Amino acid sequence: MPDPIRRIVILGGGSAGWLTAAVLAAEHDAASGAGLQITLIESPDVATVGVGEGTWPTMRDTLRRTGVSETDFIRECDAAFKQGSKFLRWREDRADDYYHHPFVLPTGYLDTNLVAGWMAHSDVPFSMLTCFQSHLCEAGKSPKQFATPEWASVANYSYHLDAAKLGVFLRRHCVEKLGVRHVSDHMVGVEAHDNGDIAALQTREHGAIAGDLFVDCSGMRALLIGQHYGVEIESQKGVLFNDRAIAVQVPYVDPTVEIACQTLSTAQEAGWIWDIGLQSRRGIGHVYSSTHTTDDAAEAALRRYIVETGGREDDIRTLPRITIKPGFRRGAWHRNCVAIGLASGFMEPLEASSLVMVELAAGMLADQMPATREAMDIVAKRYNDTFSYRWDRIVDFLKLHYVLSKRDDSDYWRDNRLPETIPTRLQELLELWRHQPPSRYDLNRVEEVFPSASYQFILYGMGFMPDPRPAARHSDDVARAEGYFRESAELARKMLAALPGHREMLDHVKSRGMPRI
Ligand SMILES: Cc1cc2nc3c(=O)[nH]c(=O)nc-3n(C[C@H](O)[C@H](O)[C@H](O)COP(=O)(O)OP(=O)(O)OC[C@H]3O[C@@H](n4cnc5c(N)ncnc54)[C@H](O)[C@@H]3O)c2cc1C
Repeated sequence: MPDPIRRIVILGGGSAGWLTAAVLAAEHDAASGAGLQITLIESPDVATVGVGEGTWPTMRDTLRRTGVSETDFIRECDAAFKQGSKFLRWREDRADDYYHHPFVLPTGYLDTNLVAGWMAHSDVPFSMLTCFQSHLCEAGKSPKQFATPEWASVANYSYHLDAAKLGVFLRRHCVEKLGVRHVSDHMVGVEAHDNGDIAALQTREHGAIAGDLFVDCSGMRALLIGQHYGVEIESQKGVLFNDRAIAVQVPYVDPTVEIACQTLSTAQEAGWIWDIGLQSRRGIGHVYSSTHTTDDAAEAALRRYIVETGGREDDIRTLPRITIKPGFRRGAWHRNCVAIGLASGFMEPLEASSLVMVELAAGMLADQMPATREAMDIVAKRYNDTFSYRWDRIVDFLKLHYVLSKRDDSDYWRDNRLPETIPTRLQELLELWRHQPPSRYDLNRVEEVFPSASYQFILYGMGFMPDPRPAARHSDDVARAEGYFRESAELARKMLAALPGHREMLDHVKSRGMPRI
């Protein structure tokens, strides 16, 4: 008789653990008792990492899949809308240096080569010319109207959220609605079968908790995949230097001030500072390279930034310093254990690529849940191939943000441009992109983490100037692009008039809610 997979044990109750539990329980009918049995073990002694506030638009679909209400989520998780990122001082260390990476594709993106047309207007930022959403971000507009139903959008969006509140929100939903068993206890050991599979996790108060598949969401400790199985992290420190972070929470001095609807990312001498606007406070942090600066200098830069951007030094609540080992595990699924979240890897928070990997992992696990132990190794191999590919693309995409900088104020920026720190595939793409824009031929999987349009926003935002192509198609492209630039400007004009302000929309959601479909 084949061994059916019925009992799933998730170790860890951070964002990764609860998101995975919610997706699996909702999709596999845990509440009825007929589907999977899902147990989540969460230590009362080990805090969650406490950060992770910027998300990718996939989060809308992930949350919708779990059956929560978007109104409840926004109210309870202090959430705000995010429409992309704004990068300041990345090309040059100047106050007027910035560009956007919005979530909406450039108008006409799938129809023509807009880059050829943009080069005739290259004094206008690429995203401002091609994408109406950059104008919404600059004007602080909401991505939806009061009457737009839950999960639907006028302009594509994701969220800024309070990570601790998300954990509480998902835990309640999982336990009360989705039939997840929550065990608040500390895991103290692993019991193994003769073949090396995990049989059960030993806990301090609840004894051994047996399962068929174990999901390691124990954070950077990686208790099962790392400590028990010894699956190594492949370090990326030679490519992505940032290995330390300080995070703080800063209240708004004026509670009526506009809330940014994009992540602000400001380059520093040896790293960058994120600035995320929630309903009640800002989440701000400095991520930096310990090879290129000291903890004290990094904290001083963070405090300076907060004061310069309207915060009060006395209000700063500092969270514990975080050490990052940039890297990932190629074999995140080993035997009957799959690592999701920080246990599987982490690079740095640039572009919020971590929670989207949790969502993709939980989604693939739910869709491809092996029916039997015999099928599990086949699914595991495909899973590892898929996620190794994704991690490699994240490394390329994050590094792209650094390699084109003209900053010369520190070794950090100079070292980031050294060819030996740039992955070979990215070097090849940069050579190709001198003559043709990033396209689906460069990123040809169905579910790429970052689509080719994202690469265009970064590349041209960073001031990359391709060699014009004297091909016959060139003049057609330019003429078509001109039409799309006019269409994009018209869309921006209409939406700026029609959409409410970001804070106004959040206040509306808090008091009146959003229509449900
Ligand atoms: C500085 C920084 C900024 C970030 N910003 C972003 C961002 O903007 N966007 C984004 O997408 N991601 C971001 N991330 C990543 C994001 O925080 C994580 O992907 C997310 O929080 C998931 O973490 P986790 O659940 O894997 O781990 P954790 O939050 O660390 O949770 C680990 C869990 O394991 C439990 N545990 C540990 N040991 C035991 C034990 N012995 N027994 C039982 N339970 C145990 C703990 O109690 C806890 O519940 C950031 C990360 C860092 C470090």
